[in-house]
Amino acid sequence: MSADETPEEIRRCSFCNRQEAEVQRLISGPDEVHICNECVELCRDILIGEDERATRAGLTSSGRPSLSPKQIYARLDEYVIGQEYAKRVLSVAVYNHYKRIASRGDRRVELEKSNILLIGPTGCGKTLLAQTLARTLDVPFCIADATALTEAGYVGEDVENILLRLLQASDFNLQRAEKGIVYIDELDKTARKTGDNPSITRDVSGEGVQQALLKIIEGATVNVPPQGGRKHPQQEFIQMDTRDVLFICGGTFDGLSEIVAQRVGRRGRLGFPGARPALGSTEDEDTALLRMMIPDDLMRYGMIPELVGRLPMTAVVDPLGMADLRAILTEPRNALVKQYQRLFEIDDVDLIFVPDALEAAAKLAINRETGARGLRAIIEDALLDIMYEIPSHPEIGRVTVDAKAINGESGPRLTNRQGKELEYDQGQPLPDAA
Ligand code: ADP
Repeated sequence: MSADETPEEIRRCSFCNRQEAEVQRLISGPDEVHICNECVELCRDILIGEDERATRAGLTSSGRPSLSPKQIYARLDEYVIGQEYAKRVLSVAVYNHYKRIASRGDRRVELEKSNILLIGPTGCGKTLLAQTLARTLDVPFCIADATALTEAGYVGEDVENILLRLLQASDFNLQRAEKGIVYIDELDKTARKTGDNPSITRDVSGEGVQQALLKIIEGATVNVPPQGGRKHPQQEFIQMDTRDVLFICGGTFDGLSEIVAQRVGRRGRLGFPGARPALGSTEDEDTALLRMMIPDDLMRYGMIPELVGRLPMTAVVDPLGMADLRAILTEPRNALVKQYQRLFEIDDVDLIFVPDALEAAAKLAINRETGARGLRAIIEDALLDIMYEIPSHPEIGRVTVDAKAINGESGPRLTNRQGKELEYDQGQPLPDAA
């Protein structure tokens, strides 16, 4: 301060109150407002931090959903084969979900939450779709099995534990968890017994589980036990708001197509009720009937009306045919064939699947009726023995898998690093390397 400067004339940062002499730069605005270089930096960090957090939760800094339905669809397409209809429903539903979050506080129209129900055969990508969505949006994700849940007071898992899993998936970052995605599998197994329901799967307590689920699905502040279970009654609860959590429920809903068939007057379709679709057909009668499903059919199946009302978006997942299963082996970003090729590559071995092998694997999976779920086991079976041998046999340069190897009739063909075939019997140890 110079001798003739009065204290009133000393310029200070209006934010941290430090004098001009204590900082590198002091920027002045109108009416004697100043900000120092350090406070500018701090504000910048706050803004960037907020930007990142908002984007992570599916929104851009301007509060719009960060991805359009078409962009969401394209990301799903990288990992999930087929299921065009389900992808379309999901990408629109998720886009609207984040629009809803963004418009919070707008008093003109309150947008209701649209949770999603995925119906279709096992192993056809329901869980994968939900999981891929969460990855696309970079939000926490967890899977719960409705059959493990019970209504409060009974032996089994409380529904609150689902939210605990979501918290764990977000490293206990409550804000992130509150915008996460939960996949609840086997919702159909909570259906109550009704005269209409041909697949009697559960007694009346299923209805209690549906009631308990309803509470968290419709959006509420839920007390979540941080340790899970009921063994720690003294623990302090974490209060979690589920209004912005997206719930995707899935189930095979066996017998639901019959209920639809009865309603639309297609009894005795395919010759007799309950007839199974032709193996490998993608657009079969069951799927066509399920597409005609209305909420009433779900209630007749044994779902409580309140829960049906909370799952307004329904997507039917198609059974996978030969072409889909073949594609699943090679096309998705993390396709099984690519994964095994990478595993072999680490041992410096080429792994080749001839087209016949892919065909044979798809056929086996169709016969097992487990959708794509069976594919990994089929490939693993064909490669297990040779994966055991390879690290002790550096002479092996290439492994070729054909249909016989997939069907367990022989081992895969082996070639040494000079391109010469090696004798190999599946299950028999290879002679030790020379
Ligand atoms: P669901 O939930 O319908 O019973 P999943 O999504 O758990 O079936 O599928 C099991 C596995 O099968 C997945 O992890 C994935 O590897 C594979 N899979 C199933 N459907 C598809 C699909 N449409 N596209 C790619 N992979 C699939």
